[in-house]
Amino acid sequence: MIISTGTASGKSLAYLTPAIASCLDGGTVLYLTPTKALAADQLRGLRELRITQVRAACFDGDTPFEERTWVRQHANYVLTNPDMLHRSILPRHAQWSSFFRRLRLVVVDECHGYRGVFGSHVAQILRRLRRACARYNAHPTFLLASATASEPGAFAMRLTGLEMDEVTVDASPKGSTTIALWEPPLTELRGEGGAPVRRTATAEAADLLADLVLADVRTLAFVRSRRGAETVALSARAKLADVAFSISPPFPTPSSTTSSPATSSAATPSSGPSSPSASPSRPSSGANPLDPITTTTPTNPITTPNPTPQTDPTNPTPQTDPTNPTPQADPTNPTSQADPRTADRPIDPATDKHQQFPLHPSEPPNGPLTAHGPLTWALPDDPSHAAELADLPNKIAAYRAGYLAEDRRLLEKALRAGTIMGLATTNALELGVDVSGLDAVLIAGWPGTRASLWQQAGRAGRDGQDALAVLIARDDPLDTYLVHHPQALFGQPVEAIVLDPGNPYVLGPHLCAAAAEIPLTEDDLPIFGTTTSKVLEDLVAQGLLRKRPAGWFWTRRERATDLADIRGGGGAPIQVVESSTGRLLGSVDEPSAHTTVHTGAIYLHQGETFLVEVLDLEAGVALVSSANPDYTTFARDITDISILSTERSHPLGPGTLHFGEVEVTRQVVSYLMRRLQSGEVLGDEPLELPPRTLRTRAVWWTLPASAVAPLAEAGIDLGGAAHAAEHASIGLLPLFATCDRWDIGGVSTELHADTGLLTVFVYDGHEGGAGFAERGYARATDWLTATREAIMSCECERGCPSCIQSPKCGNGNEPLDKRGAIRLLNTLLTPQ
Ligand SMILES: [Zn+2]
Ligand SMILES: [Zn+2]
Repeated sequence: MIISTGTASGKSLAYLTPAIASCLDGGTVLYLTPTKALAADQLRGLRELRITQVRAACFDGDTPFEERTWVRQHANYVLTNPDMLHRSILPRHAQWSSFFRRLRLVVVDECHGYRGVFGSHVAQILRRLRRACARYNAHPTFLLASATASEPGAFAMRLTGLEMDEVTVDASPKGSTTIALWEPPLTELRGEGGAPVRRTATAEAADLLADLVLADVRTLAFVRSRRGAETVALSARAKLADVAFSISPPFPTPSSTTSSPATSSAATPSSGPSSPSASPSRPSSGANPLDPITTTTPTNPITTPNPTPQTDPTNPTPQTDPTNPTPQADPTNPTSQADPRTADRPIDPATDKHQQFPLHPSEPPNGPLTAHGPLTWALPDDPSHAAELADLPNKIAAYRAGYLAEDRRLLEKALRAGTIMGLATTNALELGVDVSGLDAVLIAGWPGTRASLWQQAGRAGRDGQDALAVLIARDDPLDTYLVHHPQALFGQPVEAIVLDPGNPYVLGPHLCAAAAEIPLTEDDLPIFGTTTSKVLEDLVAQGLLRKRPAGWFWTRRERATDLADIRGGGGAPIQVVESSTGRLLGSVDEPSAHTTVHTGAIYLHQGETFLVEVLDLEAGVALVSSANPDYTTFARDITDISILSTERSHPLGPGTLHFGEVEVTRQVVSYLMRRLQSGEVLGDEPLELPPRTLRTRAVWWTLPASAVAPLAEAGIDLGGAAHAAEHASIGLLPLFATCDRWDIGGVSTELHADTGLLTVFVYDGHEGGAGFAERGYARATDWLTATREAIMSCECERGCPSCIQSPKCGNGNEPLDKRGAIRLLNTLLTPQ
């Protein structure tokens, strides 16, 4: 059974109930989650129930050796992750025999994370688990919990290999959420080829976070990296500090002559109905490190008709006091000028609150900011509010992965109590912090899938109240497309979760591991899928398995499980090591290493930022050091592709669409550095890395000469048009297949040697393929139509990173023809 419903809909209760019942009944339960943090939280929750018959324990890399024996022998509720199952539990199944014998229920929590290559590995690990259970005559029920996904039953069946029932109806009480789609403006900065650069999503997120906290709206901002989250928090705090200081001269107003606390607290607000951000003593936005652009007019904010973020009626700090005389606009006071930017904001109530926010200068510049200090905030007679205003910046914090459980509990408490009103975080928060009391969520950059969007947005809305969620677009074709096409988000099913357990590069290592666990027999083959026989033959030919009359055996000395790098993509992984401490941070599979941990790369690990000092391919090591650079890097490669076989084809407009196996030769040639806050291009550094070949699967389309000749005659650069269409289509594929644009690559050419035609390829960046290109083939018309729309809806003239430029283009984004790409896609999408 799979339960696929939204955040906070009660999934945990749905599996806890049968799980505890199984324990009470003398059975055992295996609980699987992608991360240790989540398992630790689950364990805490279980122990709080104080059911003595439930002997729950985590079994992960942190479990002390002496405890492991106890867990194996006595625990009846074991919480672990797929990695431990793969490396430790299954290879030593005999030691777990009493646990397996009584196994009634396997809970696979957060299973939407098992997608792509990682998901394919997990699918094979679950098949190995089923085989081990059968060995001990156990036939446990599999209960999967997932965020909302489209066709969850089909996904669950691919993941477990079992027939699945699905539960998708969410009847939990919820308020309505207003979703705002926010596109940062183009700036004066110029990127590659003179293209305009948009203001960054993090800079916009910082502004919005400060504004919302000022408006007493409890807000969570999701930012991709820890550094980004910290930047957002710091910048928002700086903005609130500006508000606190904006009372200072040199902008005296009639009330500013007062200097004694008593008078000041009784002073009439004078800044009038202006927003705090319009205050003239606020440093010009150019002075703010996050805010290099002085004119910032968000374009096209789209809101649903209910734009009211709720404030907490029980909150002791009302924004306005009905007894307070309504502030009058002072026409001579520059602060009463409407800030065009604030006026344009879609969050009307927040703006309203700003307008009622009575700030006024009343203390000399060096005056103390104490409880009896110079500020009046909402309730002039109550000096405690002055302190509260002075304390405003402290209401914003940043959260990162790796916090201890106690820290997380403290944070939860502070959020619930309102001592923290704004929190900037990476997705780390998804794992292990319970923040239910939020009014608004800011999402800096498309989180990758509609499912994640709804999951993050679902964090807002306490006690069934209404809430606000803002998606802030990054400078990227997919983000651009989405903020201009809300219909792609609303009323759409969330993505299907794509995985391909039959990928021979995934299946092979798991067949070896399975044979090492219990020799494989003919009867086992159906469990592992239709390609099993063929893959077994190859494994025998490679000398990895031995075929004997009784079946297939692992007879080698090394551990079979080492063959599968389940979090990577196969191949000998590159170890990522911190040079100063020798600490192993993780590993990256060899093909990805060229693009993610090349010398000079900025490498993100669990939200932490590292600089790669050197990538030594021969030693298989990337040495990194903790760093805090103000730029990020993008590896650029040049690619050749040849077609090995075509599996499927069908006509598409005047052309043809194909899906099949390809060989890709990729060489990373340089890396681009872009400033974090502004997106400005800082440089393109050459790299010397060997070319790599990759056998994978691709989707490609061709157009005959007769169809493209009229375009060439119209003066279109066909190469530039195909190249632009390729870039944008790579950017848009993640909308149809749950992948990252970094999981896929592309090649375009006016004339490809294998097809003899204008051809655009998009391929899976993982050995053997991961199902993404296959999904692109299945959804080609929608995908390419969206690609065309994305290019058309970008207001730039000749192409920019929001439409046709790609940060990983090995050709320096040359040539690109934006107008030509639209014409070319029009031609391709014209029904014949
Ligand atoms: Zn553009
Ligand atoms: Zn390119």
